[in-house]
Formats: sequence, C-alpha cells, structure tokens
Amino acid sequence: MRSYQQALKIILEGAAPAAAQIVSLDRARGQVAAAAIDAREDVPPFDNSAMDGFAVKSALVEQAAADRPVLLDVDGSTMAGDSPEAGGEGAWEIMTGAPVPAAYDAVIRIEDIKILDQNRHGRPTRISLHAAGFPGKNIRAAGTDFRPGDRVIEAGTVIAPHHIMALAAVGQDRISVTPPPAVAVISTGKELVDEMDRTLAPGQIRNCNAPYLMESLKTLGVPARNEGTIFDEPEKFEQKIRQILSTEARIILSSGAVSMGRHDFVPDGLRKTGAEILFHKAAIRPGKPILFARFPNGAYYFGLPGNPIAAAVGLRFFACPLMGKLQGLAPEQPLSARLSADFAKESPFRFFLKARSYQDRDGRRAVDILPGQESFKIKPMLAQNCWAVIPEDGMAMAAGSPVDIYPLYPGGGAGELL
Ligand code: AMP
Ligand code: MG
Repeated sequence: MRSYQQALKIILEGAAPAAAQIVSLDRARGQVAAAAIDAREDVPPFDNSAMDGFAVKSALVEQAAADRPVLLDVDGSTMAGDSPEAGGEGAWEIMTGAPVPAAYDAVIRIEDIKILDQNRHGRPTRISLHAAGFPGKNIRAAGTDFRPGDRVIEAGTVIAPHHIMALAAVGQDRISVTPPPAVAVISTGKELVDEMDRTLAPGQIRNCNAPYLMESLKTLGVPARNEGTIFDEPEKFEQKIRQILSTEARIILSSGAVSMGRHDFVPDGLRKTGAEILFHKAAIRPGKPILFARFPNGAYYFGLPGNPIAAAVGLRFFACPLMGKLQGLAPEQPLSARLSADFAKESPFRFFLKARSYQDRDGRRAVDILPGQESFKIKPMLAQNCWAVIPEDGMAMAAGSPVDIYPLYPGGGAGELL
C-alpha cells in the first residue's frame, strides 16, 4: 500500500498552474496572484497634512511654546481635495489630507492655535501658535508609504481584503490571477437522502458529504458543481462521468463506493470510462480506501471514501494540495503544537485526527486529540479547529511531544486556530 507521501507525490507530479487571467480588483479576493505586483505611483501621492491645523515655515515657530506664542497672519486655506497652492509668508489654514502649500514645511495642529481674528466668512486671518514646529512636523510626505517599484504582493499571494486595500491605494485595478480548477462533486450510495424535508425510511441516511464538500470548496474559492447522487447503479455512474468529462471540470470528487464491497463500483466505472487508476488505498487513517485516477483529457479523479470524516480527510490532505498547486500556491507548511496527553495508535499508518489547538498556561501552542475519532462521527468536528497529523512512526507519543497541525482549510480559512 502506498504511503501518504508516495500518494501525494503521484497526485502532484506534473500538476502545473493554469494560464493566468486578468480580473478586476472587486473580483480578486480569494484568488491567487499569478505574478508579483509593484507600485507604479507614490502613496501618498503628494505631501499632505496629518492634522487639521495651520501650515507654517518651521523656522518661524522653532521657539514657539504655550507661554511664548508666535503671531502670524493667515494667507489662505486648503482642504482635502483642493489643488496644491504656492502659499505665502504667514500661516495657511489646512485640513487633514490637504496638500501642503509649497511655501511651508510644518503643520501646527489646531489644538495648539488660538484664532485672534477672522473675516466675515469665518475664515481665520490672524492666529497665535503655541507649539514649536520643525521641518516635516505633521506632514505625510509623498511616497513614504509606497514608492514606485515597491512590491505590493508576491506571486502566489491569496488575495485578502488587506491586499485589496494596498492594491487600491496604488491604483492597481487589473490583477493577474491563476484561476482555481473547476470541481464536480458526486455522491454515491443507495442509502442516501438528499432532500432535507424528507423523513428517513428504514435503512436510509442523510447525505452530508455533498453539502460538506460543496461548502468547503466554496470556502476555498473553488467553483464547484454538485452533480447529484448515484444510487449505486454502475451504468448511471458511467453516464455521469461521461457527462462531467464534457464540462469544464478539471477535478471530480466522489464519495463512497471505493471500498472492497461488492457494490463498490467506482474503480470499474472509472476504467470503463477511460481513466487510469494511479493508486487505490493509502496507508492512512481515516480514509484508507481513497482512490486517485486521471482521465485522458487531463481531468483528475478523487474517489473519497463514504464515511464523512474519511471524505473530509481526502479533500483536505489529497485534493487540497493539488488544488493549491494548480493555482500556483507554495506547498502548505504545518504548524507545530505539543500533545496535551499521551497518544498511541494501533497501526503504522499516518493518522489525520480531529483536534483542538489552544494556548497552554505557558503561552505555548498545545493540541488536544479529540475523543470520537471514528470516521463516521461528525459531532467531534464541532469542537475541532485543526487536524493533527501523527506520522507513520509515531506509534506511542508522550504528552508534550510536538506534532504537526493543520488549519481546517489551507490558508487558515474558517480558523480560530492559533
Ligand atoms: P462506502 O464507502 O460507500 O462503503 O460508504 C461508507 C460509509 O459512509 C457507509 O456507512 C455509508 O452509508 C456512508 N456514506 C456514504 N456516502 C455518504 C454521504 N454522502 N453522506 C453520509 N454518509 C455517507
Ligand atoms: Mg456505498
């Protein structure tokens, strides 16, 4: 049986990022930048005031203090959005964000000013200044945030709202991104009921894999189509596969029908529809029956086992790395946490465990392996904030041992993980 590492190598072999596409900034969140983006303009674009106050020549107010005011005439007024002015010999009323007139090199904030005189429009004409100025005081100089050529985002960045703020600030509206692969989701199982308002007949269960896979893919920013349920009829499965192969789907995820049962028709159905099965089974728990295949048109197939947690592990640790690579993402790196209690496993497989990470009393990251690791048990997931991965050789691990943990979704999505 293949180890997890061998299986992953087979999956990722030759997977190359899709061709880049240009999207506008309002479509960029969650997409992966295909190329680095550098600023092409100064931010701020011009010297501007950090305060509401009065622009002055700093040399005139070097010695000003609360009890040693400097008196100046006011030559004009500029608010944010006004064009830059030349300025004059006295002071100049200025608002936050307004361009500082060329004649001045400091701004004294309004709190340190007394207005001595004003004209009939209420505009100050003479003031006393009660705080010292120095060159640059309260001025946000052009280019002190971004200069042309400064890197804004690197290739491979998953664009988040804070990147959008920076890209908007530098005026970058066209973003080159690597589009995610389109995914098709199939459920299998005669026992499955998809309609939530239906009462279960004896022997039936509710389909929770399809909603989980669909919403996970949505969380990952991957376009996904729910292709419905195959009620364990092999011909319908083959028809469905042929139909999906005629769509833009690059990855097909199915759940169920990959184990050793007589009705586990997926491997046969795949062969009949032209797929090459690259592995079937991996030395992992849960999810050992997992299957990976490719079609002549390049489409990928993951046959996830039917048990919900096995399907979740297949998505998280087999399909997600592929989707990441197809989008040009760097391989994911785990975090490390200390086991809160001894842990022993009964087989030399790699274990992917429902776990909860937290900060221990010494401020270090610790992890509880949650009770209820059976692959049919969903309730423990409600306490889960990460996956703990116990390697093949970690048969008996003592409390305090470091283990790798992964957020529920790559990139920490949906993560209250610390
Ligand atoms: P299978 O891999 O088809 O043998 O299914 C393994 C177990 O997972 C069985 O108990 C199935 O009833 C269950 N199962 C399969 N598909 C789903 C699904 N979509 N939602 C919930 N349970 C499922
Ligand atoms: Mg089944």
